[in-house]
Amino acid sequence: MTIAAARALLQTARRVAVLTGAGMSAESGVPTFRDALTGLWSKFDAEQLATPAAFRANPGLVWRWYSERRAGVLNAQPHAGHVALARAVGRFDSLALVTQNVDGLHARAGSADVLELHGNILHSRCLDDCGVRYDHPEQLPAGEPPRCPACGAPLRPGVVWFGESLDPGILGRSEHLLASAQVVLVVGTSGLVYPAAGLPAMARAAGAKVIIINPDPSALDHLAHLVLPLTAEQALPALLETI
Ligand code: ZN
Repeated sequence: MTIAAARALLQTARRVAVLTGAGMSAESGVPTFRDALTGLWSKFDAEQLATPAAFRANPGLVWRWYSERRAGVLNAQPHAGHVALARAVGRFDSLALVTQNVDGLHARAGSADVLELHGNILHSRCLDDCGVRYDHPEQLPAGEPPRCPACGAPLRPGVVWFGESLDPGILGRSEHLLASAQVVLVVGTSGLVYPAAGLPAMARAAGAKVIIINPDPSALDHLAHLVLPLTAEQALPALLETI
């Protein structure tokens, strides 16, 4: 049985890394970017809502899109898979947590030091990068972006937009942690968004055992040692709470 085989791999591992993607958040009711393009938003696409050019052209439109998604994230709750990961700290010499998700649910479940490859939708920062950050999402206006108190530029969502580079420090630490892990869990990611999707192959090339947890086939299945066709909420507590 594959879950027993996965547990056996984890029982002998000292260094474990986890990469989570949109499926992990979808189980908490946070829609993927594309699934959120419904209703009033169905006539827009990513180019119009999630690029630096889109924000400069129509900051109110982009801000309202993110306000709506931010409200959804604030209403969502971490599920048993998030909690199992947070509780598993201490069972290994290191348990690195890298996520493509921007909703902060891992931190809310109790995980510290989460490497957020694509940023965090609950944070805002100055569009002109003067260094101002704003971390009180519940106090943000929903309609137009507020002005940076230091330089007057609009605040922007703290996510990585299409066409932007990932933070090189976060990406570099993620690469290092996955490449030095003995077991890597890849949870709820379709494996289509690079550079994040390249991390499991890098880990495998460095000698890690790769376990994929996803109820649907992913583009990364060919490089897994084990594929568990389960949701995160089914698999992670079963795998981690008995280690
Ligand atoms: Zn500023």
